[in-house]
Amino acid sequence: MSLDVWLQQVWYERARAPWWLRICSPVYGAVVRLRAWLYARGWLQSVRVAVPVIVVGNVTVGGTGKTPFVIWLAGRLRTLGLPVAVVTRGYGRSSTGRVTTDILRVDDSCRADEVGDEALLIRRRSGCPVYVSRDRVAAAQAAIADGARVVIADDGLQHLRLARTVEIALVDGQRGLGNGALLPAGPLREDAARLGTVAAVVLTGSGPGAGPSASIPAGALRMGLAGELLQAVNGVAIDRTLRSFAGQRVHAVAGIGNPGRFFAALRAAGLDVVPHRFPDHHRYARWDLQFDEDLPVIMTEKDAVKCQAFAPAHCWCLPVSAAFAAADERVLLRRILMDARLLDILACPLCKGPLQLADDSSGKVLVCRADRLAFPVRDGIPVMLEEEARQLESTDPLLER
Ligand SMILES: [Zn+2]
Repeated sequence: MSLDVWLQQVWYERARAPWWLRICSPVYGAVVRLRAWLYARGWLQSVRVAVPVIVVGNVTVGGTGKTPFVIWLAGRLRTLGLPVAVVTRGYGRSSTGRVTTDILRVDDSCRADEVGDEALLIRRRSGCPVYVSRDRVAAAQAAIADGARVVIADDGLQHLRLARTVEIALVDGQRGLGNGALLPAGPLREDAARLGTVAAVVLTGSGPGAGPSASIPAGALRMGLAGELLQAVNGVAIDRTLRSFAGQRVHAVAGIGNPGRFFAALRAAGLDVVPHRFPDHHRYARWDLQFDEDLPVIMTEKDAVKCQAFAPAHCWCLPVSAAFAAADERVLLRRILMDARLLDILACPLCKGPLQLADDSSGKVLVCRADRLAFPVRDGIPVMLEEEARQLESTDPLLER
């Protein structure tokens, strides 16, 4: 059994880690708290950049559905007309071992081993500029120089050097915080109490699992993952529905933080799954996808961006998107927009000019003086659509300063 698999069992399945692992956790915890204290006292300097920074991260090691969330958030802010960029460390690229402050601008032609599988996926799915660097402050500054007005920092909860406006923490809805212990005896990268300090806690992929542990704040929001259409990894065949594989035996391949979640989703859709687990950010080779039984192969999107060059014809990937209940989405967006003061930096979708937040008889509106339009703000969330905006008479009091 590999160390990785054994640790997962200790963290998520056993009640107690062995004593020699437990004695290391207080040391780790002391280092984490000391670092936070040094930043709080200003002994270690955090850098504030010129635009709002939204940090998306987690308090545990491993996958929590962060990538679909970042893609969703970037897309949602873009529909509001905000030029948004994503900065990430680029896990899973071949140069991570080397200390480098290079900044990579991810474009569609990049390879996953250059920029990391998650960075490439975020770029392809969101269409937003994505910057990869170990130095997230430098990456954010590069994004701002290129015109970003909002920066999403992927996996930046513990990267305290980049000062943030809003923090969102994601927690795996099924595994929760595991045994609740700090590394290495448990999966926690910092104390569970940290969840009480962020703007929103999002429980991801929540299903009929063990349920979240008691230390998760009561107001946590729920994010589901939805995916119905399978795409051929080599890009040749046309899409197939997941349902069309129901009752069929398939090889399921996942090199993500929590492969079990992917296998469970396929089983829930009625597939007979032969699971193949790979380490997170695994670099695939042709023979990884060659199995004795010649069955269809189904993998996650994050795996697929690394297999396009050599995937056989019967190899499919299942893109998933974050999905929120309408009420949870409103709460989440409102907190982000308010806390990051994003309403102040929205631009008019027509003339790209400035907007002014004003009070109308019907509530708050965003006024474009040049176009004489008032965009409604409903439940704290602006609706930046021309057909939803109210045309103002030249004498309208909203146009007066
Ligand atoms: Zn305008």
